Amino acid sequence: MSYAIAIDGPAGAGKSTIAKRIAKEMAFIYVDTGAMYRAMAVYFLDNKIGAEEEALINAACDNISVAIEYDNGVQQVLLNGENVTGRLRREEVGVMASKTSVYPKVREKLVELQRALAAEHNVVMDGRDIGTCVLPGAQLKIFLTASVEARAKRRYDELCGKGEKPDINEITEDIRERDYRDMNRDVSPLRAADDAVFVDSSHMGIEEVIKTVADLFHENVSR
Ligand code: C5P
Repeated sequence: MSYAIAIDGPAGAGKSTIAKRIAKEMAFIYVDTGAMYRAMAVYFLDNKIGAEEEALINAACDNISVAIEYDNGVQQVLLNGENVTGRLRREEVGVMASKTSVYPKVREKLVELQRALAAEHNVVMDGRDIGTCVLPGAQLKIFLTASVEARAKRRYDELCGKGEKPDINEITEDIRERDYRDMNRDVSPLRAADDAVFVDSSHMGIEEVIKTVADLFHENVSR
């Protein structure tokens, strides 16, 4: 039977950084489920479908295929056969993903793919609903969070590092809006599974968080 580590939490808590490193250390596959929602968003944007047009989005779902491949261990996302990985991190794509991930039809399609990956491989999977909905049987569930201020500051530093001149207030507001949408949607809202271990990274460095999660994993497998 395969082993699954589910890492859920709000935007900017450091899930992907931590999940990638843990996957590498454990020789597991890292599955970034946010990237799948972002790939669907790329399709909606390319086809000029608005985030509010649920009927069009539902119909479009039948024309979309999302697939995952690994290139030297790095997840690549294919949208109808085209590698769209390089387009996924754009701001408008993130906003569209956040707005369209509320639709049950969008979620159903991706949850099926996520479960198939976990059935076949040992995975570290990150997202919003992995421990609660996608893989309720995951052997280890982490709810990784951080204060809005800490998450905004990290995003601010990241953008400054890329030579951009971001506005910290705009970033903070965007994070608050995303949290609100993720936590208050009807289907699979962001919340910690009852058996998840809560890790607050507001005042922790990356290495400390990785050690915490790795220790939890080793404790769990030696039980
Ligand atoms: O994690 P990331 O920012 O890449 O996710 C993009 C959007 O996809 C999130 O804002 C969230 O609304 C949605 N998402 C989700 N469920 C997941 C992963 C992401 O609803 N498992």
